[in-house]
Amino acid sequence: MLFTDQLRDLLGRVRRIAIIGAKDNVGSPADRVGRYLINAGFDVMPVHVVRDTTWGLPTAHNITELPEWGFEPDIVCLFRNSMYCEGHAREVLQLPKMPKVFWMQEGIRSPEAGKLMFEAGVKVVEDLCIKTVHEQLFRDKTETFACQRCGKCCEGRGGIVVGPRDLTRLSVHFGLSGEEVLARYAEMMGGKPTLKVGDDGFCMFFKEGRGCTIHPARPSVCRAWPFFRGNLIDEVSFEMAREDCPGIRREASHAQFAHEGFRYLEDYKLRCHDIRTEGRAVIVEEHELPPL
Ligand code: SF4
Ligand code: SF4
Repeated sequence: MLFTDQLRDLLGRVRRIAIIGAKDNVGSPADRVGRYLINAGFDVMPVHVVRDTTWGLPTAHNITELPEWGFEPDIVCLFRNSMYCEGHAREVLQLPKMPKVFWMQEGIRSPEAGKLMFEAGVKVVEDLCIKTVHEQLFRDKTETFACQRCGKCCEGRGGIVVGPRDLTRLSVHFGLSGEEVLARYAEMMGGKPTLKVGDDGFCMFFKEGRGCTIHPARPSVCRAWPFFRGNLIDEVSFEMAREDCPGIRREASHAQFAHEGFRYLEDYKLRCHDIRTEGRAVIVEEHELPPL
């Protein structure tokens, strides 16, 4: 079994998770965990023997099909009866590249599968819920920032870019296709889709007294604020953000804020790289940060 610091390191670094036994029956454990992982920024590939779509995502019928889909899982997560895990381990062995982890969910144990995976150099987790572990290890907690839920950052037009990963989250959240999400909730600004704004000047999903009404599925830009590129690399921008956002601690130094923010973007898979489709606010490299 992996130790807590190994799990944190691993879950912080990996992006792609294949879920065997994926289901979107509302309230089922597989549904809750799958939605959580999508909202947490992972690229999820559902695998189910008969389903063609799950959470609106194309679904492979067998893990051995993943190379055809161009999907190399870092983690293979199982929602299957323990008795089937050995068979799935044998399927994983057919992949051209081994995943880092073979993760059997809560209540699932298979020494046979564990042995096969261990011998292939794959780490094994059993009888543990990946959602629970992730929630415990990655709490929205930082030293330099604690949101006061004043809603100021939800005001204004054009700032909330809907990148490809955001579109997946919103599609899953609303049960709509990507095209439908864009048609209903987005408008083009600067060549990129951005969330529409209401007559009050706030994001259409902001409601007085309730805050963000799509909080679990909100776009990366919303998750990243105030750890935006400008605030991380430029002290003047940071000072201005601190004037506007009561959540940024008054006593935080710019360097401390910048390095903590960068780590936060990494942990939550919010750092982006493609200026053509993603928000510039979340594109930043470590060498651009001020020295500590
Ligand atoms: S402005 Fe700052 S404190 Fe207010 S809701 Fe936004 S992040 Fe939270
Ligand atoms: S999606 Fe939610 S967090 Fe983002 S701007 Fe809209 S209301 Fe605010």
